Amino acid sequence: MTTQIKYTKLFINNEFVEGVNKKYFATINPATGKTIVDIAEGEKEDIELAVEAAREAFRRKSEWRQLSASQRGQLINKLADLINENKEELATLESLDNGKPFQNSLAGDIPFAVSVLKYFGGLADKVHGQTLPADGEVFSLTKKEPVGVVGQIIPWNYPLAMLAWKWGPALAAGCTLVLKPAEQTPLTALFAAALSKQAGFPKGVINVIPGYGPTAGAALALHQHVDKIAFTGSTEVGKKILSYSAQSNMKNVSLELGGKSPLVIFDDADVNEAAQIAHDALFSNQGQNCCAGSRTFVQAKIYDEFVKKATELAKSRKVGDPFNETTQQGPQADQPSIDKIVDLINSGMNEGAKLQTGGKRIGDVGYFVEPTVFSDVKDNMRIAKEEIFGPVQSILKFETMEEVIERANNTDYGLAAGVITKDINRALEFAQAVRAGTVWVNTYNMVLPQTPFGGYKSSGMGRELGPDALEEYLETKTITIMFHQELSENSISLIKT
Ligand code: NAD
Repeated sequence: MTTQIKYTKLFINNEFVEGVNKKYFATINPATGKTIVDIAEGEKEDIELAVEAAREAFRRKSEWRQLSASQRGQLINKLADLINENKEELATLESLDNGKPFQNSLAGDIPFAVSVLKYFGGLADKVHGQTLPADGEVFSLTKKEPVGVVGQIIPWNYPLAMLAWKWGPALAAGCTLVLKPAEQTPLTALFAAALSKQAGFPKGVINVIPGYGPTAGAALALHQHVDKIAFTGSTEVGKKILSYSAQSNMKNVSLELGGKSPLVIFDDADVNEAAQIAHDALFSNQGQNCCAGSRTFVQAKIYDEFVKKATELAKSRKVGDPFNETTQQGPQADQPSIDKIVDLINSGMNEGAKLQTGGKRIGDVGYFVEPTVFSDVKDNMRIAKEEIFGPVQSILKFETMEEVIERANNTDYGLAAGVITKDINRALEFAQAVRAGTVWVNTYNMVLPQTPFGGYKSSGMGRELGPDALEEYLETKTITIMFHQELSENSISLIKT
């Protein structure tokens, strides 16, 4: 697949510019391991310039601050329309840079980004505070205000969708922003930056700085003039982001981190259907999904039959060129990903799990892994505890509800969970008992623009999507007004009630 790459530089103040240090880094096609193009590398000095631009755009009475909430909503909608108009090109860039099958980019990631932006475009003029019956002869109200300049750091697994999750609520709230895309996948973020200018966002509202985590990312999270940092990525880096906030200006922090999500299948389920849901829950996006159903718990009575079906599905999965129409699974993101996945597969074999299919890297061109299924997985094995972020399904056996609740919750993570059963009472009992931010019943991975998404425990703090996401980008200001002496007793009591 050849396509012309139009945007390769940093985006500051609505212009594409070289980095201050004039450095470049290669973005790699994971299907071939070859360089697609060299990208300008942002470092601390560039983050300084971008934050300054965002600060200027946030200044009182700036063009952006003078827009009404509905005008902001219209701009977000315009950006969504432009992304939709350019979906073929964006999907091509996404699949080139990330390796996900082109059809998935075109029918999944790009339309999802559009619908998320549309949802937040619609929410922009529905932000409001409250009036409060305060004690004393005063009248109190709250007002919602944008938190200010926002830093956003995103991973490589859903590059454009992650951008939309971050930009939508930040812009709807009236913030200005500096986004650092993952070093593996900067292409669609730069394209979206160009579209934001075309949509009419004033200069400095949106800035995009490609670069590495420990340099550009850390500079953004440590910046004194960044009021909030929103991060999606690993729990390990999430901990650093929290400490950067503490070391600098106590900026607000929201974190979407890793998971080791349980999918529980009771013995009244249709085994074929359950096996398909579990397969999709784990293998979609090459297994590089923070809420992947990576611990498949199956009740004893249907366990053997389920393992057989799950293995058949994995064996029939088509792995290959992301631009081939029949491909279901493309390459993993990069060499470190492959190394981690192979290490965990080996640990599964060494620790006594039964390898049903797969288990190896495919060839040495690009970063492909065989769809892999392990049965007889025990809770204390590494493959049942650590996030693999690859196409490796771990199937565990359970007997009772109490037991599976206990085991499902026995993890530091709490991002998502699923349950498959025809019995609504079983579904509700599990849904209420599991400690996770999202629970799916008889489905999986149904993440919608309207539904809040985020983690319990080490899976993060704060929520993205849905109305809750807006709150992450708003401050609450209380205004308390003393009544004028001349107000009659009567009118005071009227206002106070
Ligand atoms: P990562 O944490 O290494 O990188 C994520 C982003 O953080 C990248 O942009 C990277 O450059 C940046 N970064 C790295 N070190 C940094 C530092 N010291 N300071 C500031 N920024 C830094 O994660 P990854 O390997 O790119 O992504 C995979 C991980 O992300 C998985 O663990 C997955 O579960 C998680 N994830 C979570 C969600 C969610 O919504 N909860 C979504 C997608 C991915």
